[in-house]
This record gives sequence, structure tokens and C-alpha cells, in this order.
Amino acid sequence: MAIMSVIALAGNQNSGKTTLFNELTGASQYVGNWPGVTVEKKMGHLKSNKKLMFLDLPGVYSLSPYTLEERISRKYLIEQPPDLILDVLDSTNLERNLYLSLQLMETGLPMILALNMKDLLKKQGRTINLKKMEYLLSLPVVSLSAVKKENVPDLIKQIQKSVKEPPKYPYPEYDDRLESALTMISQQIQSYVTPSKLRWYSIKFFERDEEIQQEIKLSIQQQREIEDIIKTAEEIFGDSSDSIIVNARYDYVAQIMAMCVIDRNDFQISVSDQIDRIVTNKWLALPIFVLVMWLVYYLSIQTIGTIGTDWVNDVLFGKWLPDIVGSLLSSWHVAAWMTELIIDGIIGGVGSVLGFVPQIMMLFLCLGILEDCGYMARIAFVMDRIFHRFNLSGKSFIPMLISTGCGVPGIMATRTIESEKDRKMTIMLTTFMPCSAKLTVIAMISGTFFPGQSWVAPSAYFLGMLAVVGSGIFLKKTRMFSGPPQPFVMELPAYHFPRPGNILHYVWSRSKNFVQKAGTIIFASCVLIWFLSSFNWQMHMVDQNHSMLKTIGSVLAPVFAPLGFGDWRATVAVIAGLIAKENCVGTLRLAFGSNSAQSFAQALNSTFSPMAGYAFLVFNLLCAPCFAAIGTMYKEYGDKMWTFRAVFYQTSLAYICALSIYQCWLILTGSFTGLNILYAIIGLSIVIYGLMIKKDKPVEKNEALI
Ligand code: GDP
Ligand code: MG
Repeated sequence: MAIMSVIALAGNQNSGKTTLFNELTGASQYVGNWPGVTVEKKMGHLKSNKKLMFLDLPGVYSLSPYTLEERISRKYLIEQPPDLILDVLDSTNLERNLYLSLQLMETGLPMILALNMKDLLKKQGRTINLKKMEYLLSLPVVSLSAVKKENVPDLIKQIQKSVKEPPKYPYPEYDDRLESALTMISQQIQSYVTPSKLRWYSIKFFERDEEIQQEIKLSIQQQREIEDIIKTAEEIFGDSSDSIIVNARYDYVAQIMAMCVIDRNDFQISVSDQIDRIVTNKWLALPIFVLVMWLVYYLSIQTIGTIGTDWVNDVLFGKWLPDIVGSLLSSWHVAAWMTELIIDGIIGGVGSVLGFVPQIMMLFLCLGILEDCGYMARIAFVMDRIFHRFNLSGKSFIPMLISTGCGVPGIMATRTIESEKDRKMTIMLTTFMPCSAKLTVIAMISGTFFPGQSWVAPSAYFLGMLAVVGSGIFLKKTRMFSGPPQPFVMELPAYHFPRPGNILHYVWSRSKNFVQKAGTIIFASCVLIWFLSSFNWQMHMVDQNHSMLKTIGSVLAPVFAPLGFGDWRATVAVIAGLIAKENCVGTLRLAFGSNSAQSFAQALNSTFSPMAGYAFLVFNLLCAPCFAAIGTMYKEYGDKMWTFRAVFYQTSLAYICALSIYQCWLILTGSFTGLNILYAIIGLSIVIYGLMIKKDKPVEKNEALI
């Protein structure tokens, strides 16, 4: 029976071995020298138990024979193996310390891990999952502080237990290819070493350790065999044998670190995270988003933006410019038709569009702030959660966000979507979002038909989103677009105060585009529309009711009758909207021939019911986008058929939505006929069918085979 058990304290320098040794042994220590060298050898027994002898090994970083200390420790561990290794680790430097632990484990001796400096770990904000580490390494692990004397009794208990029944642990197993090389080496050397040392010697032979090669005299044949094994492994790994082992150990350490160490800093709740807890909360995220967007539109369309717009419309383009230009023109004796073109066509038409600049600037100021402070990234994240439920990818949301500025860059932004099907679908859906041009229609409708009601403008925004999600649900079930959604990984940047420079740039670049467009496309369109509305087919100047424009509008107007705006002027506005959505407003203004914004609003109100106005908004919001956007779709699809499909889908959807909304509204307000019920049923059933339709399963299977 062993009277005395020897426990060797091993570990990196400064891991606290000596401090712990002193704490364990107290006054019982005696100091000698390691044989042949002047390195101190300290021994001492446990204060409370003389049978437990402790030995303070020199601090080392590895068990390779590079330094004197390493040589001593290694020679000792192999030649006079202690009963137990007490591996002392500095837990604030766990990674480096564990590297030595693995080598100590390779010796095959019973071992305990003492994670020292527990007190510092706390300050570092780290937590080590001891149970998990014990499980992964199959070793007892005790966390303590030698200086603060925390948990030392626990360690003593564990030492006593381990000495009685030495823990048996499996060696850390490395890469399979390395393991098979080690197994082959162990077969060559097994008759020379005891089984418990086989692992150690195999590794050392693999490392071409010269001391070991001298210590164990293998035959030339065996040496050659081992060299072949090593060479093969080196070829497989493309690395030298000692690096292979070093890397294997570091990989192993990295695994343990990843699994057992929790960095509380990673989880510490910053202000950003606290905001996110609310803003991205499962239940609150959407209501908050709705509220935020409502506020954005309230500020830009309803209140602040409107003050500017009213001034531009009523004063600048309603009075000053017409008056000044009018008196100039009459003093120059300009022809009547020319005066009309300039005053009504250009100042009236372009002016009605430019009137929205203050509202647009306000909108982009709000959106710019939301984007720059980091809120929009959260919305993309929240939308991904929702989109995913319907098999859509959150990646589709980014193009939608961009499309709130302009559909053209929005469509181009789909390039980040790798899945071809998802990309095609997103191109088709992204222009449902209200762009700055559509904002003119939104502002006009809400201002004309629903003055003082703040729900109209944001409702257009959410209708656009709903159209995207609803279409996604429907289209994803068809064979053309089916497939699992792409994972969408995004990092949420911390919130920060919006930078004025960024926002000004954001507002400026978008308003600039808008104004430029007014000066070019809209200008040209206004001239064209004025011409069509002022001449008949015989090229005689006539009043509008006999103009070419009326003939064109009247042909198509019945198509829009079920939507409530089957009027030739509204019809022409829709068509002109294809050139640019701002034309909807400009054309209506021209067609109603009203001088002031007020008389324009009166004229519209006496022609259409508010709900017809809303249906007009819905249709123009969702139908085929302007030519510029259609051209971009064509460029991105690279295919006429796909472009046609997209335009067809968008226009059909716009029609069905406007139809359903208008007719249901009529029914709900009690003014309806049998025809209205029929229309409503047709519209709604198409929508419901689209959402409820079963997945195209068999086709998907076929595709999987391809
Ligand atoms: P050795 O090189 O492994 O023998 O380490 P030492 O015992 O000499 O300790 C190195 C340094 O770490 C000394 O300054 C100790 O005071 C300090 N130290 C040891 N254990 C702890 C501990 O648990 N907590 C803290 N904060 N410091 C410690
Ligand atoms: Mg020391």
C-alpha cells in the first residue's frame, strides 16, 4: 500500500502554482534542487494530511525539450511519474494554458484541472462552464483562487478523491488522419513501452523528438517504417509533423474554448440591445413599425411637409409664377395657344409635380433618419422573421426599402439575392412599394379626398408591403418560384445618433432626382398631354371635351368603371402615369383645367367619391411601374417574356386589389347593387384563392430530380 501519494503541480509560468503550493502545504515545505541543475525543487505535504506530498514543478509552456525547465518537468513526469498531476491554469489565459494541459494529458497520468484566478475571471466578464469542460475532457475541473483562498477546500477534496480512485480519462483525440498515423506508430513501438505511455511515445516519435529517438532504440526497419508513416501524414496535411501536432492541439483547445467559455461581454445588454428588445420584440415590432411609419407620413404628407407644399402650390405656382409669366407673355403679345401651353401646360403641370418637393424632402428626411440611426436594419430583421414564415427571404426586403426612394435602384438591388427564383420574384414585387413619384399620387389623393385623415398615406405604404407579402405567399407556391427561402444573415449595427451629413445627402440625392425628372420627363409629358388635350384629331384647337385626349381616355375608361374612376380624365392619368408616376397628378390637373389647388380639389371631389379616389391610388400604387422601372426590369431579367409576365402580374394585382377595395367599400357603406356584390365576390375570391391555393407539389418533386 502506497504510504504517500505524490501530486505534481504543473502549469504555465505565473499560473499561480507556487501560490497554490504555499496555500496547500503551509510551513511544511522543503526546498532542494532538481538533480544536476540549480533549478529549485520544492516539496511539501498537505497541511492536514502528511500522506499527500506536493511537488512544485517549474513553470513551462510545453513538454518539448526546448528549455531547461521543460526538460526537467518532462523527464520527471515520464521517469518518476507522480500519482496525480495537478494542472494549475490561469483561467484568464485559458487558451494558452489548455495547450499545456493537452500535453500533460498525453502523458497518460491521472490529472485534475485547477482553474486558478477565479477572482480575475469575474472581472473579465467571463464564465467558464465547468461541468461542460469536465465532460469534454473527462477530467475533474475545479475553479479557485489561490490568492483569495477561494474554493481551495473543494480542490483538496477533489485531490483526495482522485488519489484514492485515479480518474481514468481518454486521451484527447485529434484529427482522424493524424490519429491513424499515431495508431500505426504505436504498433511499431508497443513492445518497447508500457501501454499507458504508448500515446505519449507515439506522439513524440511523430514529432521526431530526438531525445525520445535516443531513449528508445528501434530497429532500422522500424525507424524507416515510422518515417514513412510520418512522411505520408506530412503529405496529407501539407505541413511538417510537429506543426501537425501543434495545430491539432490548438484545434482541440479552440473547440473546448468555444464550448465552455462564455464571454459575458458578448451578452452584456447595451443600450442598443435594450432598445432592440422592444423594437424587435415578437409582438411589439410590427405595431411599433406601423406607428413609426404613420408618424413619418403624418409629418411629411399631413403636417410639416404640407405647409411647404401648400405654399409652393398656392402661392408660387398658383399665383406668383402664373401672374408674372402671364403679364410678361401678354406684354410680349405671345399667341394665345402659346400662353395657354406655358401657363396651363407647363407651369400648371410641372408645377403641380414640383409642389410635392417639400413633402418629399420631409419624407426622405424622416426615412433618412430612420435608416442612419439603424432602425431600418431592425425592420429588415423583423421582416425576415415574417417573410420566412411564408417561405420568403428577408433579403427581398432590402430592395423594397430602396424602392421607397425609386424603383429603379430597388430593382437593381435584387442582384444581392443569390437564388435565381427569389430574385426574379423580388424584381416583380419590389415596385409595389410607394416610390417618391407615387408619393405625389398618395399626397394628392389624401389631401383632396381625405383632408385631415392621417391614415391614408401610411396605408399606401403598408398596402404596398402587403402586396409584396401576399404575392410572395402566392407566387412561392407556384412552380416558377417555389423553393426554400435563402437564409438571411445580417449584423445589426448599434444604434447611433443620425449624422446630419448622411441625412442631408440622402434627402438631397433623392429630391434632386425628383426635381430633375420634373424638368425633363414630366416637362415633356406635360407638353404632350397639353397638346392632346387642346387639339382634336383634325389638329384644330378645341376645348378638352372634343380633344384627342378625351377620345383616347373614353375608349379605355369603361375598364376602370368597376374601380370607381371610369372617367376619361382619370384613365388618361393612369396611362400618363406609365411614363412617370408624377404624371398622374400633372395630367389630372391639366385635364381638370383648374387654376388653383383648391379649385382642383373641388373639381375632383365633385367628380369622384373619396373611395374612387382611394381605388385610383391603389391602382396606381400597384400597377405596372413607370417605363424607367420597366426598362430596368427588362435589363435585370434579360428576357422579354419575364418582363411581360411581371408587368402583367402587377397590373392584374392592382386591378383586383382596387376592385375589391372599392366594391367592398360600397357594400359596407350600404350603397350597392347586385353588380357591386358580383364584383366584390370576384375580386375577393381571386385574392383568397391566391393566398389559400395549395402548393404545386408534384412539380417541385420533378424539379428536385433535375
Ligand atoms: P507560478 O509562476 O505558477 O508559480 O505563479 P505564482 O504562484 O508565482 O503566481 C504568479 C502571480 O499570480 C503572483 O503575483 C500571484 O500573486 C498571482 N496569483 C496567483 N494566484 C492568483 C489568484 O488566484 N488570483 C489573483 N488575482 N492572482 C493570483
Ligand atoms: Mg512558481
